[in-house]
Amino acid sequence: MFTYKIPKNLQPQIQIGLRVIVQFGKKKVLTGIIGKVHNKPPQAYEAKPILDILDDQPSVNPLQIRFWFWMAEYYFCHIGEVMFASIPSGLRLSSESKIQANPNFDLETSKYPLDVREEKILEALEKKEELSYEDCEEILGVKTIHPILKSLVAKEAILIFEKVQEKYTPKVETRIRLKEEFVQSKGALEAIFEAVQGKPKQESILLKYLRDVPVFNKPKLNEKGVDKASLLEEGDSESSLKTLIKNGVFESFKHVVNRIDEEEAEREASLLSSTQQVAFDEIKTHFESKQSVLLHGVTGSGKTEIYIKLIQEVLESGSQVLMLLPEIALTTQIVGRLKQVFGSQMGVYHSKYSDNERVEVWNGVLSGRFPFVVGVRSSIFLPFDSLGLVIVDEEHEPSYKQFDPAPRFHARDAAIMLAYFHQAKTLLGSATPSFESYYNANQGKYGYVQLSHRFGDASLPEFFLSNISADRKKNLLKLDSTRLLREKIQHALDQQQQVIIFQNRRGYSPYVQCEDCSWTGQCVQCDVSLTYHQFAEELRCHYCGYKEKIPSSCPACGSTQLSTQGMGTERIEESLSLLFPEARMGRMDLDTTRSKYGYQRLLDEFAAGQIDILVGTQMITKGLDFGKVTVVGIWDGDRILNFPDFRAGERAYQQITQVAGRAGRRDIQGQVVIQSRNPDQELFQKVIQGDYFEFFRQEMIDRKKYYYPPFVKLVKITTRHADAKTAEKAAHALHYQMANVAVKKIVLGPEKGIIARIKNQYQYESLIKLDRQGATQSVFKENLARIIEELQSVPEFRSVRWVVDVDPS
Ligand code: ADP
Ligand code: ZN
Ligand code: ZN
Repeated sequence: MFTYKIPKNLQPQIQIGLRVIVQFGKKKVLTGIIGKVHNKPPQAYEAKPILDILDDQPSVNPLQIRFWFWMAEYYFCHIGEVMFASIPSGLRLSSESKIQANPNFDLETSKYPLDVREEKILEALEKKEELSYEDCEEILGVKTIHPILKSLVAKEAILIFEKVQEKYTPKVETRIRLKEEFVQSKGALEAIFEAVQGKPKQESILLKYLRDVPVFNKPKLNEKGVDKASLLEEGDSESSLKTLIKNGVFESFKHVVNRIDEEEAEREASLLSSTQQVAFDEIKTHFESKQSVLLHGVTGSGKTEIYIKLIQEVLESGSQVLMLLPEIALTTQIVGRLKQVFGSQMGVYHSKYSDNERVEVWNGVLSGRFPFVVGVRSSIFLPFDSLGLVIVDEEHEPSYKQFDPAPRFHARDAAIMLAYFHQAKTLLGSATPSFESYYNANQGKYGYVQLSHRFGDASLPEFFLSNISADRKKNLLKLDSTRLLREKIQHALDQQQQVIIFQNRRGYSPYVQCEDCSWTGQCVQCDVSLTYHQFAEELRCHYCGYKEKIPSSCPACGSTQLSTQGMGTERIEESLSLLFPEARMGRMDLDTTRSKYGYQRLLDEFAAGQIDILVGTQMITKGLDFGKVTVVGIWDGDRILNFPDFRAGERAYQQITQVAGRAGRRDIQGQVVIQSRNPDQELFQKVIQGDYFEFFRQEMIDRKKYYYPPFVKLVKITTRHADAKTAEKAAHALHYQMANVAVKKIVLGPEKGIIARIKNQYQYESLIKLDRQGATQSVFKENLARIIEELQSVPEFRSVRWVVDVDPS
């Protein structure tokens, strides 16, 4: 936040949310947004004036600015970081230095002679009004252009100025249409045909145009014309078209097109079943007295149709609706279903969108073109001005939390705040609610609505626990699969049904090890083993992206006995294709879905029945609805349980239930096989019984005893420095100060980070537990800000970085 003076002439126009140009530092010209208008001049410095106002209308509304202030304060970051995350970079302005000729300069009368290179620049400026530094480099073919420009400025031959540019570029098409006079009368058109007689190329273009645009019957159509590229698509020559334009038959014009597809709605919302209707009515009753409602509906219970009905009602009342999804790419099915009903009034805010596409959604919300947006977590920043409803689907999803960079916000929690500012309602939906939300519902803070049966005749899947150790003893384990799993898969394949195999990604990946000296590849700048990527024959670091080719012999001892350890999805896919050579395999993980449409392609193939067995990580658990999947295998159930985190139990319950929920979503009951070395564990029993409440109740006992959310608030502070000693010292200094802050409950640490070094930075983590009261948190944050500032003024800690994560997950 910086304070600027409002010059007299700009005072009448000043409004919160307008973009302005200001000078920053000595030279830089930046754009900023007006966040507050006040009359308290800063004490420490003389405020500079605002140079200019860029907009007639604010591009950010007061509700957004209020939301930004809240986010900066709650998540302990700068308002600038929130602003940066909020505004698509296409709407930010960039400034670039440009040069132009000094109009007062005259070569003839100048006191200072120019050298050859300087003259060249001036010549270029006669042809082009302005040049960038790169242009000048190119003209002269030299890299160091500064001395030359400096000399030209000194000789008063050129001026250097800052050019501020909008980065967003609308997509423009060149279109072709008939000159208006030929559309008016049939005779005129006939005359043209006579004129092009014997010129088959021109005739062909003309005929093609009339085929696409039947101007005889619908003269109005000519106005829009056709895209030039499509007119020339079938190999017609561009020069013939040029001749037709030159001869005044056609004219070409520019047209701005939408990057985002316009699709019309093509179906009505489904009629709700009587159970769905009851849930719908309950939600609305709760909304009368509560801002938020938790919809706890088992997988396949038909939550989406209930959302659709609610969205329709809110849109009809004239308010806006935002629906958050954890990852759009992973939920294309739901987006497709919504698109069918809402058509072109629905905007989609994708994480893989280009910046120009984001700007179009942003502008679509501003102009009212999209009263309804479905989007990923960053869509909470869109310029809504009258939200009536915010839906957070799969509200338990960890990916709603942003880790890096700041603001490290949780989109569900932020969405509830956003809705509060708009006086809108929030609906949280999940088959496996987060403990935070369920706790709030239990406390009566949220309304609670349950759907405990699947839609239609579908029943919930049946579970089987399969003992890996027992099978190994009896020699029944083949390529890490138990006999039971193989039988179930075989049975499904025999019936032309489909199978999904799930392998947990978290905290685990395959690596290469030397069998003789147990060497493993390590990242050169992080404290982690490199992950084995079979397809690319590489070892890669998942933290910094460092990679190297797999060595043919051990770099430590020279042995050629290198073996792969662990089971990534690639290995599982390979094992299964050996076991079921006739089955068609597919794999869905980060590697196979990196491209924008990779995920969609796999889903389409799976839907079309071109894949029999789909192996995948977390991605395959998200909202997929395929009727022919009857068997789901969980490859390594133990891996899901063993994670060193207070949320491990909660996450395991969610994950197993969600994966299992992909099975048997229509008339045939699904079967879920969990492979485990220790199948008697209690958690498995709980998931199988589906007794969420009992599971929650027991976990809460521990959470309360050991002070974990939802009973306390957590703040994690990471201390980072390139030097291990300094990092440790700084972390302890912080820790010591923190222990003196009265409001905290407990301070844990500092501990070496789970990964002690990332990108050559050593890390130490402290965990602070606070009472849930808002006042406690503000006092704590004020103290924290002061402590960090004081520590940063200690010379040896100057380059230490402190990263504060509120509500870490
Ligand atoms: P959830 O989101 O709760 O997992 P879905 O909304 O995907 O459940 O619904 C499961 C299946 O039931 C989908 O195939 C959906 O099309 C169908 N379905 C749900 N409600 C209705 C309804 N009212 N009419 C027709 N089909 C429905
Ligand atoms: Zn070795
Ligand atoms: Zn690394």
